[in-house]
Amino acid sequence: MAFVSMKELLQEAKEHHYAIGQFNINGLQWTKAILQAAEEERSPVIAAASDRLIDYLGGFKTVSAMVAALIEEMSISVPVVLHLDHGKNPERCKQAIDAGFSSVMIDGSHSPMSAYCTPPMSPSSMPPTVPTSASTETLRIPAYDTTSFVMAMFSSIGECERIVKETGIDALAAALGSVHGKYQGEPNLGFKEMEEISRVTDIPLVLHGASGIPADQIAKTIRLGHAKININTECMVAWTEKTRSMFKDNPDLYEPRAYMTPGISAVKETVKHKMREFGSSGKAVCTQKIEI
Ligand code: 13P
Repeated sequence: MAFVSMKELLQEAKEHHYAIGQFNINGLQWTKAILQAAEEERSPVIAAASDRLIDYLGGFKTVSAMVAALIEEMSISVPVVLHLDHGKNPERCKQAIDAGFSSVMIDGSHSPMSAYCTPPMSPSSMPPTVPTSASTETLRIPAYDTTSFVMAMFSSIGECERIVKETGIDALAAALGSVHGKYQGEPNLGFKEMEEISRVTDIPLVLHGASGIPADQIAKTIRLGHAKININTECMVAWTEKTRSMFKDNPDLYEPRAYMTPGISAVKETVKHKMREFGSSGKAVCTQKIEI
């Protein structure tokens, strides 16, 4: 069984001007859809479990074992990163690493910057049990609150530079105007700040809240240094709309497989579409593998 480290994948993607999609896991069938899409597209993929969903999903070890077993049973041959999304603190990140995750994100959006630039909060101070990638998020990307889109704010360029220098992280998610959940109105990304942050930090950037951002703007974020793009809402909407229509059209359905399969296929098609949009289709090459 093998998950790959995210670092090299993102460097490769940045160098060749495409981005790798992070798709959030919302259960076993969902994970199957993500893996199958990646295999069919010959695309590297980042399967992510959000820290706030870890208990719902059965715990770190369950998530890691589930994804690992699916890779094996489905004969998945493209590189798969297992990533902790919005890790609440370094202890949670360590638990994920111990359970086999190959990449972690520390969500620094609720702490003062000094809190995660000072050991032991710094990702670089985490034990090097596996060649894990670490990324962090600066300031606030409004999360899971569709009313807070007006609060979208921009990361300070100086802070981004300092975080990267002092922590040694592999990727940075700066707050550049994207929001989690559904956009109300047009997305308003700070492309000028993006260009500057990419220049001064010189590491791959991560775009959170990418659902609903038009393809031409996504292409621009990739040109300006984004190598990882996170999608959750669009997959959830695709699943929910399909599942809702199944119940509407077939009110007598009661077998989960019958009413869930079309929704799961909709997730797979959404993931495939995004992989093509991000330019990662056909980019799977066999990279290093980590035995866990
Ligand atoms: P969306 O739910 O807006 O696609 O954002 C996903 C994300 O950024 C997960 O961290």
